[in-house]
Amino acid sequence: MAVETIDLIGAPGAIVPLSDQFRRPITYLRISVTDRCNLRCVYCMPEAGLPWIPKAEILSYEEVVRIVEAAAAIGVRSLRLTGGEPLVRRDLPKLVKRLAVIPGIEDIALSTNGLLLAEMLDELAGAGLTRVNLSLDTLREDRFFSIARRPGLDRVLAGIDAVIARGLVPLKLNCVVMRGQNDDELGDFAAMTRERELFVRFIEVMPVGENLELQRDAYVSADEILARIGEVDELRPVEGPGGNGPARYFAFPGARGAVGVISPLSHDYCETCNRVRLTADGRLRLCLFGDNEIDLRTPVRAGATQDDLIGLFEGSMLIKPERHHLRLGEQASRMRAFSEIGG
Ligand code: SAM
Ligand code: SF4
Repeated sequence: MAVETIDLIGAPGAIVPLSDQFRRPITYLRISVTDRCNLRCVYCMPEAGLPWIPKAEILSYEEVVRIVEAAAAIGVRSLRLTGGEPLVRRDLPKLVKRLAVIPGIEDIALSTNGLLLAEMLDELAGAGLTRVNLSLDTLREDRFFSIARRPGLDRVLAGIDAVIARGLVPLKLNCVVMRGQNDDELGDFAAMTRERELFVRFIEVMPVGENLELQRDAYVSADEILARIGEVDELRPVEGPGGNGPARYFAFPGARGAVGVISPLSHDYCETCNRVRLTADGRLRLCLFGDNEIDLRTPVRAGATQDDLIGLFEGSMLIKPERHHLRLGEQASRMRAFSEIGG
């Protein structure tokens, strides 16, 4: 059967857009292009000893493209490239260029720690990158080193300037809040949203891999984050910058940007979940917190057709859970690290 790729609904013989058992349309695919990273953030990866996925097991760009073509044919419209750190994967702009021309793909975003962004941004934007989320947990160099275990704040700040200068706005900054480590900078981050079209999203630290203790001690809830920023100035709920996010947004009077909170633990966003994740080694993960996944690499390497892959996407919907059941102080059973899952 020929595969229709656009105008899915109502077209004769059209493929039915992907949705799960709970009638949530799946339109968003996050793609981890590598498990490797040039930082070692305390909440994400151990300093050393994490076994990297062998190179032969990582999907080639060709394989990623084939999977995305199938996903796009059944309604996936937005992609996010993540990792590990996606910019450490060689020739990433070449992948962006190939993804950007797949019929149906409307949006290609990047999640990055920003270290290599300033030098790569022109090429990425030229290839078709549409949006950037940049992670930054502190505005102080000494703290940057203690949180990320590597230097580089100046390079991240240069990345922010480059994105704004290039006009890839609104820019979203992600900040993982940790009590006693950076929670006294909430006001400084919020102040950045007054003059610039910046959306600073504060993320509750989540339990992954070996960080259960850190998470227990350092967790600050989204409600507390908002209350503390609200002490600086009045915060009003506002529309976010759009684009698939689970954040709730609030702004200071007259601000060009806004602050947001992402609270997977205290206010989960499962009800509106529209996403699935592709790990660097080709597993389709149906929920960030959980074991539900299917292997796509083996069939792709065995020569699966686009229809075969579509069948696998459709079948995977049966194991997409309605919600995650993770609670504060618990750890998802087989979760190792975000580097494996792809943020
Ligand atoms: N390296 C890129 C970066 O840092 O943006 C992309 C991958 S990173 C795993 C994606 C996002 O997940 C980052 O914003 C990071 O701060 C966040 N993250 C990682 N571990 C986390 C944790 N334990 N709790 C909350 N957010 C976490
Ligand atoms: Fe690397 Fe991103 Fe994890 Fe930090 S959060 S260690 S930058 S993958």
